Amino acid sequence: MADDIAIVGAGAAGAGAAYALADADASVTVFEKSGGVCGRAATRRREGCRYDHGANYVKADDERVTELVTDGLDTEGLVDIAEPVWVFDADGEISEGRDADDHKWTYETGITQLAKRLFGATDASVENGVRISEPVRENDGWRLYDTDHEDLGHFDAVLLTPPAPQTADLLGSANWEHRLCRELREAVAVIPYRTIVSAVLHYPFELDQPYYALVNTDDDHDVGWVSREECKDGHVPDGESLLIAQMSPDWSVDHYDDADGAITATAAERVAELLDDERLADPDWTDTQHWRYALADDGVDAGTVDRAAEHGLYLAGDWVAGEARVHAALRNGLETGERITDRR
Ligand SMILES: Cc1cc2nc3c(=O)[nH]c(=O)nc-3n(C[C@H](O)[C@H](O)[C@H](O)COP(=O)(O)OP(=O)(O)OC[C@H]3O[C@@H](n4cnc5c(N)ncnc54)[C@H](O)[C@@H]3O)c2cc1C
Repeated sequence: MADDIAIVGAGAAGAGAAYALADADASVTVFEKSGGVCGRAATRRREGCRYDHGANYVKADDERVTELVTDGLDTEGLVDIAEPVWVFDADGEISEGRDADDHKWTYETGITQLAKRLFGATDASVENGVRISEPVRENDGWRLYDTDHEDLGHFDAVLLTPPAPQTADLLGSANWEHRLCRELREAVAVIPYRTIVSAVLHYPFELDQPYYALVNTDDDHDVGWVSREECKDGHVPDGESLLIAQMSPDWSVDHYDDADGAITATAAERVAELLDDERLADPDWTDTQHWRYALADDGVDAGTVDRAAEHGLYLAGDWVAGEARVHAALRNGLETGERITDRR
């Protein structure tokens, strides 16, 4: 009989695992609390624009992921951002960066296409709007419940892919009387995260700059990153600009609960100073996104995670890979999906 496998989270790791499980003798159900897929690699649409307000692009830092993106998956609308990333320091001094030749991939319809195309190549059923609250150990497998205590069924194996603090919460509420549950939770809960508030700034005019983005290299500026979505084909209509300003982790923690208008006003002011263009202080529309768990600063102890597999429990994500990048999460998901396939 085919195994029933549950994947919690439809980000890059969850999508990679579903993709790797596509040919297995398994029925795969993905539970995702939000209304979309691709997690922190997120895209929004507004007033004719599309913008990636979480992860900006996927880099070619992993051979297997590179092959998948450029060959294995449908490449229609794949965008390789041509302009380089430059750098700036605490004084706002801008200089040329180091990665002019690196690939930086997204899609004309946004980076969420990555997960959409991975899931599209599988028979996995993606259940959006379902937040898992409690895994219960039962009959050599797991029974899952959502936040309304609805029974979502019994699964032979479960893969958890939420960011480490949310996975630690799930382990904390798990009904599993085993020493490993506490050990796992402790190993997962200590992983530190950086918080990032993203401000989206739209302008009804074009910007003439030689770079796609600027990144702060000394971690001593209120702005950590600012990028031009118009460098991605299909994202911004001609004659307009849309900037994504990611505020520094320190600034983001201090101002996390500020009103959106106050956040975008400061972001626009800082960006106008940095780019030495006073028009940028006055965007015609704005948007924000608060990423409390934006980037993991460490990886989890691999040995503890591996031991959970003996109990039909798997963990994947950028924090399991030890690198807070889309390609690392995807690679880790692919490998974890293969481990689930090989488990019998
Ligand atoms: C602002 C920002 C900029 C970034 N820039 C880049 C970049 O340019 N390039 C790059 O490579 N990486 C970048 N990253 C990092 C990259 O986004 C992540 O490393 C990667 O997307 C992580 O994928 P994941 O699948 O491990 O986790 P996630 O994408 O977080 O996926 C986990 C999923 O689980 C879901 N979930 C959580 N709890 C539950 C629950 N209880 N029940 C059901 N579902 C649940 C979440 O909604 C989410 O969809 C950036 C991240 C941020 C926040």
